[in-house]
Amino acid sequence: MKDTYKHKGLRKQLAEEVRSKGIKDENVLIAIENIPRHFFMDSSFVEFAYQDKPFPIGSGQTISQPYTVAFQTELLEIKKGDKVLEIGTGSGYQACVLLEMGARVYTIERIKTLFNKTKPLLEQMNYFPKMYYGDGYKGLPTFAPFDKILVTAAAPFIPEALLQQLKIGGILVIPVGVGDTQQMQKIIKVEDGVFDTKTCGYFRFVPLLNDRTL
Ligand code: SAM
Repeated sequence: MKDTYKHKGLRKQLAEEVRSKGIKDENVLIAIENIPRHFFMDSSFVEFAYQDKPFPIGSGQTISQPYTVAFQTELLEIKKGDKVLEIGTGSGYQACVLLEMGARVYTIERIKTLFNKTKPLLEQMNYFPKMYYGDGYKGLPTFAPFDKILVTAAAPFIPEALLQQLKIGGILVIPVGVGDTQQMQKIIKVEDGVFDTKTCGYFRFVPLLNDRTL
């Protein structure tokens, strides 16, 4: 697949659209402008890659809407060198946004087919997050603690393992809820067992899968 001037122009427009919806973090907007989203899409949706919408990526999953990616990333307050854990690799687009911003990225995917598809794609594009096939509810205890943790699927509750694997001062961003929409929560770990939680509006995500569904 090629990355043409037309694609670059469409990306610039997309970044402006996301800015106009309220995103202020310039580094997020630059990442959106730099990353060829059409590379991450299923062939039937490639022509829509620069619409601010989610699209199917197979296995009943979606690549998130760029605005949602930007919103969650902005909440994480990413700084160069941050060690970030993402739950729900999916297409790999969000992981690449974090990498473009200078984060060190660990990402977990629950569906083997998606993991097997996304790993070589990112390698081809010269993006090298640490990728794991596994259960995001458990996090990655071996590599903890993390500066930031991002959950990109709807969590019915906040997994205790993720709170434990956050550094003191670290931020967890997670959409929580079991209904049609979920409440975005930004949780700062003040000290062990003490958390400061802010709610940041409602979004719509595919559910975080548990072991029993596979
Ligand atoms: N971040 C993705 C991207 O940039 O394309 C979009 C994520 S998609 C909305 C949610 C992803 O979470 C899906 O790929 C899904 O398979 C994955 N997922 C669901 N439950 C999971 C779990 N328990 N552990 C890890 N990944 C999970």
